[in-house]
Amino acid sequence: MANQRRKFLKNSLLLTGAILIAPKVIGIKEKRSHANHNTGAAKLKLSFKPYTLELKHVFTVASNSRTTTPVMLTEIEFDGMVGYGEASMPPYLGESQETVSQFLAKVNLSKFSDPFGLDDILQYIDAIDSNNTAAKASVDIALHDLVGKLLGNPWYRIWGYDPLKTPNTSFTIGIDTPEVVKQKTIEALPYKILKVKLGKGNDKEMIESVRTITDKPLYVDINQGWKDRQYALDMSYWLKEKGVLFIEQPMPKESVDDNAWLTAHSPLPIIADEAIQRLADLVRMRGAYSGVNIKLMKCTGMREAHKMLEFARAFAMKVMIGCMTETSCAVSAAAHLSPVADFADLDGPLLIKNDVFEGIKIIDGKVTLFDRPGIGVVKINP
Ligand code: MG
Repeated sequence: MANQRRKFLKNSLLLTGAILIAPKVIGIKEKRSHANHNTGAAKLKLSFKPYTLELKHVFTVASNSRTTTPVMLTEIEFDGMVGYGEASMPPYLGESQETVSQFLAKVNLSKFSDPFGLDDILQYIDAIDSNNTAAKASVDIALHDLVGKLLGNPWYRIWGYDPLKTPNTSFTIGIDTPEVVKQKTIEALPYKILKVKLGKGNDKEMIESVRTITDKPLYVDINQGWKDRQYALDMSYWLKEKGVLFIEQPMPKESVDDNAWLTAHSPLPIIADEAIQRLADLVRMRGAYSGVNIKLMKCTGMREAHKMLEFARAFAMKVMIGCMTETSCAVSAAAHLSPVADFADLDGPLLIKNDVFEGIKIIDGKVTLFDRPGIGVVKINP
């Protein structure tokens, strides 16, 4: 009797609670209870397939040129819900469709029955092998997409970021002849900031070509192409006069002292890209750079990128959210961090002809997030 009474009271309280919160969160509650109900029965299932991105232009940086970029598209399925992910493998980073396939073949997600256990699952992924950061990111992104969908919310909201605070994205101009650079600068007119690749010996010619077309603010990315720190310092003064806002990875990542010296003397902020891949690098390199370009493919995905962003802010470092040549899948995943970044370089999908997803949009030069759950992408090309 007493038991029944306790049960009745408990149910009444639950019901009252449900009625009170119903108008606001009932949709989310239904989805969560749907997931919880199946915890223990449903399993996480990973699948993946290679895909080749076709670039609109030949893309040249200090170290190489290319017309395509290999990627791997991933899916994690759980209880009828699918999360999408992606690994992008620009050749100079050491991963390929073969290495990513080999890595993903070792992943056994069936031992996890709760997709909300991100920490355990992603620690398991990271421990499978060293490096392979893009392969790891392809699992991380798909898992975040799945979890966001199960929660019924986009990640910027789960993290508590204001989607209206996203920055303008830069649009990248690769190293080329003055005629091509001018043409690309004209094509880039919709974007409010340009990122100009330098480091191949024609630095001033590149900037002067851009400046014949536009006086927009510029970022420059040297991709480790400068070898002499005095040249780098002289260029930093010249570039400041030309309206450049910062210099990305001026010298080789191994030249820690030279880059740190430049950071101490340059009138422009010096942003690390190749030198800071993961959270441990950020902590180790504290003081050597003014800021960091955080990319999901370098740091194993959204979970570590989010931690890096918070560490960088605590270290008073500038943060750029960047990308590789990627589909709208990985770029949209990165964009959820952009409301708290100082700079964004999220032009990946703008550089390719055969996107697979619809995701974030660049509207009037600004990164624009939508109120769609997970990473907020819709597959448009199966
Ligand atoms: Mg870079």
